[in-house]
Amino acid sequence: MDYFKYYNNFYKSFKGEKGQIGKTYKGKEIYYFAVKKTDFPKIIVQYSIHAREYITTYLCYRQIEDFIKLGKRGTVYFIPCTNLDGVEICLTNKPLYKANARGVDLNVNFDANWGQGSQNVKVKGDSNFIGPFAFSEKETIALRDFTLKISPHATISYHSKGEEIYYQFFQNEKDEKRDYKLAKQIEKITGYKVKLTPNSAGGYKDWCIQKLHIPSFTIEVGKDSLSHPIKKKHLKDIYKKNKSVIILLSEILWKKSIWKLP
Ligand SMILES: [Zn+2]
Repeated sequence: MDYFKYYNNFYKSFKGEKGQIGKTYKGKEIYYFAVKKTDFPKIIVQYSIHAREYITTYLCYRQIEDFIKLGKRGTVYFIPCTNLDGVEICLTNKPLYKANARGVDLNVNFDANWGQGSQNVKVKGDSNFIGPFAFSEKETIALRDFTLKISPHATISYHSKGEEIYYQFFQNEKDEKRDYKLAKQIEKITGYKVKLTPNSAGGYKDWCIQKLHIPSFTIEVGKDSLSHPIKKKHLKDIYKKNKSVIILLSEILWKKSIWKLP
């Protein structure tokens, strides 16, 4: 089924708490779905902030259904697609497109060492443009404001590709240890590798770590040998590896005394 048709149908048929975090530049509604088991911990999981990585939206739908059935702890806020305009461009005529409709790469537009990433560029285009200033885009503002409103205890951002997990962004030593341990747990169940990305900046994960001091992860799904955009036939493998990630994270955080969360 067509990406947007499915997106809207899923919204219509979802029975639980749902809504929009805001609208894209072109006015599309950025939906969220909340699945609540217990009040603590609150986790935000967002997908497809990079347009060509829209395979992760399909992963989202499955993770929502699994959390409804199998989740035991916490409340998870799922945002299946942060960059709807970009995905539309990607599906229409530019399959490798990453940015939003204004040519801004949303995952370098957050106010966390903004503009200091080694791949950052200062002109608009398909990828890596940081925008005229931090939070210049409707989509990043929407995600920022929703995050501040929810005040989550952790966040996950799903990207593709490479089968890697990123957790670090200049935390203090104590937080870094905490976040590394969690990342290693995700490594164990996914088989993906924990990696450092010292030269990136301005991402959602970076901002969550720097401003909210919470564990925040980027998970890159799909083997590096695959090409963008990852085809749906690979979803089965991606889903298999990520099936338990959110359920596990919510249960580990539930034992909050271990992590001394803010
Ligand atoms: Zn990405």
